[in-house]
Amino acid sequence: MVYKKGFDLIKTYPTEFSEEIVSVRYSGQTESFSFPFPEKKVEHIIINLCPTEPWALPHWAILKDNTTNFLHRLEKVRSEYFPDSQCRIVVDRSEDDLINDLIRYGKENEWLHTYSMKPVYPYDAPVLVLKNVLRLEISFDEDPIKHGILLLDPQSVTGIYEHYILKKENEVRLIPISGTGLHENRILKVRPGTPVETVLKKYIKTDIKYRVFFDGLLNGIEVEDLTQAIDWSVKNIVVMEEKDYKIPFPYIRTNELRFTTSLRGELRRCVYCNYCDDICPVNLEPALYWHCHSRGEKQKARIYALDKCIECGLCSYICPSKLELLQVIRECK
Ligand code: SF4
Ligand code: SF4
Repeated sequence: MVYKKGFDLIKTYPTEFSEEIVSVRYSGQTESFSFPFPEKKVEHIIINLCPTEPWALPHWAILKDNTTNFLHRLEKVRSEYFPDSQCRIVVDRSEDDLINDLIRYGKENEWLHTYSMKPVYPYDAPVLVLKNVLRLEISFDEDPIKHGILLLDPQSVTGIYEHYILKKENEVRLIPISGTGLHENRILKVRPGTPVETVLKKYIKTDIKYRVFFDGLLNGIEVEDLTQAIDWSVKNIVVMEEKDYKIPFPYIRTNELRFTTSLRGELRRCVYCNYCDDICPVNLEPALYWHCHSRGEKQKARIYALDKCIECGLCSYICPSKLELLQVIRECK
């Protein structure tokens, strides 16, 4: 590994999804699948089958116990649209069966290469995957296609195969939903165009305050308007029950020890603990951005290699003062 830090979110928050995949009914207008084929020649396709976030779609939902079927689809997509490319698939290093299947297929197909990785957040971030797989350093906002590299979501392989090769319509996207605001974690078949509220209505707990996020809690986007439609880029939905207190020692005098957690971080100060520095996967010192921002000197953040930040959100996650570091970093950028 060319980087050492990060955080094992999957072990910390193990998340089980029901194996039954359920279709969401919606009779309104939906969006047809389309894929923006790049004009530049693709030399490398990278597919990540090793998610590092507990709320991400698990690979079994995509492979459906039939890796060979997925690889056949990939082979068709590659030969039809990206014939000069090599495909590089990243998998969890503990998945022996999957690794063996891929290596076996790769022996007869010289275009397929297998890479194993520890599923530690955010090792699957594009910047880090490219560094590990191709030894290529790019910046966070650089499009890998400039280097002839296409990062292909595994669901897009199926989408391209069904929509452009089989000419099938009625396409669906698999969306995992999870979080403390739900009765159960599920993988749903959703037709993009379906409103978020329609997708979630059967699963949200009643009589709670909750917040909804697209694409994870660490660096995803909060969904303010639940009438908003799901589109083809949505990877997952997390619903969190919102609480503005915590009980640190529930076994003693709980009423007296009900603390505010200062949800937005507005009441706290940086205590120079360096936790953010320790966890940053690209060796930055996130507290420096906080200090630049709080002194009204956002432009100074550039001095501290701000452009290297991959916006993983781990600094915000680990900060004991719950400072909104990622938000500040985005503002400085
Ligand atoms: S500064 Fe924060 S958001 Fe940026 S890479 Fe480091 S830990 Fe991630
Ligand atoms: S983790 Fe938070 S409190 Fe600690 S140094 Fe970083 S910004 Fe400051």
